[in-house]
Amino acid sequence: MFENLSERLGGVFDRLTKQGALSEDDVRTALREVRVALLEADVSLPVARSFIKAVEGKATGQAVTKSVTPGQQVVKIVHDELVHFLAGDNETPGDLKVDNPPAPILMVGLQGSGKTTTTAKLAKRLTEKNGKRVLMASLDVNRPAAMEQLAILGTQVGVDTLPIIKGQKPVDIAKRAKQQATLGGYDVYMLDTAGRLSIDDELMAEVEAVRDVTSPRETLLVVDGLTGQDAVHTAENFDQRIGISGVVLTRMDGDGRGGAALSMRFVTGQPIKFVGLGEKMDALEEFHPERIAGRILG
Ligand code: GDP
Repeated sequence: MFENLSERLGGVFDRLTKQGALSEDDVRTALREVRVALLEADVSLPVARSFIKAVEGKATGQAVTKSVTPGQQVVKIVHDELVHFLAGDNETPGDLKVDNPPAPILMVGLQGSGKTTTTAKLAKRLTEKNGKRVLMASLDVNRPAAMEQLAILGTQVGVDTLPIIKGQKPVDIAKRAKQQATLGGYDVYMLDTAGRLSIDDELMAEVEAVRDVTSPRETLLVVDGLTGQDAVHTAENFDQRIGISGVVLTRMDGDGRGGAALSMRFVTGQPIKFVGLGEKMDALEEFHPERIAGRILG
C-alpha cells in the first residue's frame, strides 16, 4: 500500500537515517511529495494544504524506527492521520439514526449521482440487516420515470413504496409518506428527492420545504465518487443550504482515487457513511476509512 509514495520519498530521506529523528526540513520535503500524491488523488488544493499542515507538526521530531525507512515512516504517519480524519471520533461505519419510528431519511443529490439506486440499496440493507420496516417515496415530480424506477426497485428488493398520485407537490408527497409511515407502522420512511443537473435555487427551496415538514433524522447526500472537485462543491452547497448528516459515495467500483472523500469530510465535517460499489442492489458497503486512505495514497 505504501510502496509508490515510499519509493518516491526514498531519495529524500537517504541522509536522514544517520540522524535518528525526522527533522523539520526533511519532513517538509517529504510532505511536498505527499501533497502531489493527494492532488493526483483528486483531493482539492486547500484541503491538501490544510491536511499537510496538520501532519507536519505530528511528524517532525518523531524518532525513526529501525524496521522501516524514514520515507515509509512519514507515509505511515500520513496514512494514520488520513484514517483518523476520515473515521472521525466515536463514529461507527454505516451507523444511521433510525430510532423513534417512523424515522425519516432524506436522500439528496444531483441527478445521475445514483440517488434512487442508493435509496433502494439502503432500504434493502435496513430491512435485511437491521430488521426495519421501510417505506420509500419518490418526490421527483418532474420525472415520472424516476418515480416508477423507485417503485420497480422497491418490488425488486421487497420494500414498500408510497403509491404515486399524479400532480402532487413534493411537500405534499412528503406529508403523505409521513402519514402513511405512521399509520402503517413503519420504522423508517425514505424520501428520494428530485435531482437536478446542477444546484439551483428552486431545487434547494424545494428540499428545504420537505426538510421542514419532516425533520429528517438523517439527511444523506449521494455523490458520484468519480466527479472529484465537483463532488466537493456539491457537498458544500447542500450542506450550507440543507444541512447534511452524512455522505454516500457512489461508483467507487470505478477507478476514482477517492480524494473527494477527504475533501468532503474536510469541507462539511460530516462522515462518509456508505460507499456504492456497483449497480446491483447489494453493492453497498459501510465506509472503510483505511481502504480509502490506501487508495488516496496509491
Ligand atoms: P439518480 O438520478 O441520482 O437517482 O441516479 P440513479 O440511481 O438512477 O443512477 C444512475 C445510474 O448509476 C444507474 O444506471 C445506476 O445503476 C448507476 N449507479 C448507481 N450507483 C452506482 C454505483 O455505486 N456503481 C456503479 N457502477 N453504478 C451505479
